[in-house]
Amino acid sequence: MILVLLGPPGSGKGTQAKLIAEAKKLPHISLGDLLREEVRIESEIGKRAKEFMDAGKLVPDELTIELAKKRVSRPDCQVGFIMDGFPRSPIQAEAFDKMLKELNRSIDFVLYFKISEEEVVSRLSGRRSCKDCGAVYHLENSPPKTAGKCDACGGELILRKDDDPGVIRTRFEVYDKSTKPLIDYYGKTGKMVEIDASLPIDKAFNNVLKILANATAL
Ligand code: AMP
Repeated sequence: MILVLLGPPGSGKGTQAKLIAEAKKLPHISLGDLLREEVRIESEIGKRAKEFMDAGKLVPDELTIELAKKRVSRPDCQVGFIMDGFPRSPIQAEAFDKMLKELNRSIDFVLYFKISEEEVVSRLSGRRSCKDCGAVYHLENSPPKTAGKCDACGGELILRKDDDPGVIRTRFEVYDKSTKPLIDYYGKTGKMVEIDASLPIDKAFNNVLKILANATAL
C-alpha cells in the first residue's frame, strides 16, 4: 500500500505517519527527516538545503525529488510505504507520479490532514525536539518527564528554528501557495480522503484506521 500524507505544517501528519507505519508495518518516509539527516552529515544536499529549511521555505524541487527517488527505490519499499511531506508542490507531484510509473506502482490513498492556521501556530510553538535523536515532545500535550531532557536518550530538547512563530507563518504561506494546489490535484484522482486534524492524536488515528480498513475491504 502506498499512502501520501498531505496537510499543513503542524497538522500532525508526521505523528500519524509513525503510527500508521507501526500498525501496517510499512516504511515511513519523511522528507523533512531525510533532509535534516543530510544537514546533520553536512552533505552537499544538506549544505544547499539548510538555509531554505531554517527560513521555513521549500528546498528546491530537484533536491527533494532526488532524495525521494533514491528512498522509494530501496528494497524495503516494495511492500509499500508512507510518504510524509512529499510531494509538496505540483512539480514534485508530477515527478512522484513518474517515479511510481517507472516502478510500476501507484498511490492507493492520499490522506489530507485538515486544520486551521491558528491551531497550528499554537501546536508548533510548544513543540520541542531532541537535538540528538529527533524525538518530538510538546510542552503542554506531551511534555518530557524531566524538563528540557529527552526521555529516550537524555539529549537536550530544543525549539526547531523553523518552529519559531514567525517562521511558522512563513511555512503556512509557503504551504498555501505551493502545497495547497495538491488538494485539487489529488482530489481529482478520487483517492483523497479528508481527516479532521484538529482532533486529538488517538481520535484522528482511529479515523485513519477506519478509512484504511474500509479501503482494504473494498
Ligand atoms: P517537515 O519536517 O516536513 O516540516 O519539513 C521541514 C522542512 O524541510 C520544510 O519546512 C522544508 O524547508 C523542507 N522540506 C521538507 N519536505 C520538503 C519537500 N517535499 N519539498 C521542499 N522542501 C521540503
